[in-house]
Amino acid sequence: DSSKLTNFLQVIIDKKGYKDEVQVIKTGCFGFCEKGPIVKVLPDNVFYVEVSPKDAKTIVEEHVIKGRIVEDLLFSEPNKVEKIEFQENMSFYKKQIRIALRNCGLIDPENIEEYIALEGYEALGKVLTEMSQEEVINIVKDSGLRGRGGGGFPTGFKWELTYRNESEKKYIICNADEGDPGAFMDRSILEGDPHSVIEAMAIAGYAIGASKGYVYIRAEYPLAIERLTKALKQAREYGLLGTNIFDTGFNFDVDIKLGAGAFVCGEETALINSIEGGRGEPNAKPPFPAESGLYDKPTSVNNVETFANIPPIILQGGDWYRGIGTEKSPGTKVFALAGKVNNVGLVEVPMGITLREIIYDIGGGIRDNKRIKAVQTGGPSGGCIPEHNLDITIDYESLQSIGSMMGSGGMIVMDEDDCMVNISKFYLEFTEEESCGKCTPCRIGNKRLHEMLNKITEGNGTEEDLERLVDLGEMIKSSSLCGLGQSSPNPILSTLKFFRDEYLEHVQNKN
Ligand code: SF4
Repeated sequence: DSSKLTNFLQVIIDKKGYKDEVQVIKTGCFGFCEKGPIVKVLPDNVFYVEVSPKDAKTIVEEHVIKGRIVEDLLFSEPNKVEKIEFQENMSFYKKQIRIALRNCGLIDPENIEEYIALEGYEALGKVLTEMSQEEVINIVKDSGLRGRGGGGFPTGFKWELTYRNESEKKYIICNADEGDPGAFMDRSILEGDPHSVIEAMAIAGYAIGASKGYVYIRAEYPLAIERLTKALKQAREYGLLGTNIFDTGFNFDVDIKLGAGAFVCGEETALINSIEGGRGEPNAKPPFPAESGLYDKPTSVNNVETFANIPPIILQGGDWYRGIGTEKSPGTKVFALAGKVNNVGLVEVPMGITLREIIYDIGGGIRDNKRIKAVQTGGPSGGCIPEHNLDITIDYESLQSIGSMMGSGGMIVMDEDDCMVNISKFYLEFTEEESCGKCTPCRIGNKRLHEMLNKITEGNGTEEDLERLVDLGEMIKSSSLCGLGQSSPNPILSTLKFFRDEYLEHVQNKN
């Protein structure tokens, strides 16, 4: 437990009489979950992994007090003799570019002064004192930033649409209703760097002409809620939220709304209905929220990771951001790397990197030296990418071209032992359970797909059933009301395309 470890380190340092010289800080996630708990000693930048209370005592006595690196506790790369001391030398971090995660694992997220010390709220100050609303929107448009919640809609364009719809009241919403199984990118950002999101929401509020923002966050994220609540209080105390911010006459504040864990509330119109106190069901679009959103007012809904990119874009410029990633998908993307990979964790990579680099160079390859079978991206809405496509680049268009999608950033690795039919059944069970039931193709169609998959895995399927799966899946995709139904057959369709032999094995061997 990192809290207990932090307290324990503090007690040892106090006891040894170094209370005034050495500061113990509990940070957000380092990303390298596989090797936690992690203790980093600064300014030496030495990175200790899997630290136990006994190790903590040794680190204090040997490194902090005597200046001697504790070799046994350093990270050792697989198949390499030498041990890694510095974070930037570790293959897990070498290919990462941390923009959205820049402060995670570096600052105390509960201390606004640490955020301010690293250029925090400078971007807000800049936009309020030096830039017009159009200039802010243009810099975000120039950056090419696209929504990181999954849709990939250009953020600057969304802000522009909301700005152009005139109204005496407008709203900014931060979508923190992260619900994909295995995904924890947004939670980690809010736990590790909540001020970056608050600052970006205020910038967005200024750009579109809103004075009120909401963070819609699922109630299952208690630590993120706690830290966000503290951060909002501190921002108000420092005059960075509220009235007359930076003496510019700009007013903006943020409230938290808790979601009850419905996956469909990640869809922006369902989320808005939920904030208004209604049933969390999507509406038909148009009108889009930019025109008529929360309380029928123009509203911009952006995801946590999208917001976390905004302050650096304002400070360093759109061209800087465009210089990272690919032409159509600039910047970086955070992924929650999970499954049968050695280095499970949170990674932020430049768009255009290949899946193979993520799995092998950053992820350290497959557990127990097994053979990789597939990578699932995009959560329940995504598809399974087979081994022969591992050299595909990570960007919105490439992933779609092979029947998967970027999604919010879940990335689950499967090895030779995984049955792809059962994997698609798992995801379908999830979407069937989470369907709000408003439209027939999704409500009934996913049930029928599930029945067919059961029939196949129970050994009663036929080859005709495989064709029926495709026909029904395509029908659900084309006729469902919202993204949940429009993408729910993706895991089945992609596995049928790339792993048809596994379906045939169930059908022909009747098991
Ligand atoms: Fe609800 Fe599914 Fe229709 Fe979306 S597609 S509105 S989740 S029933």
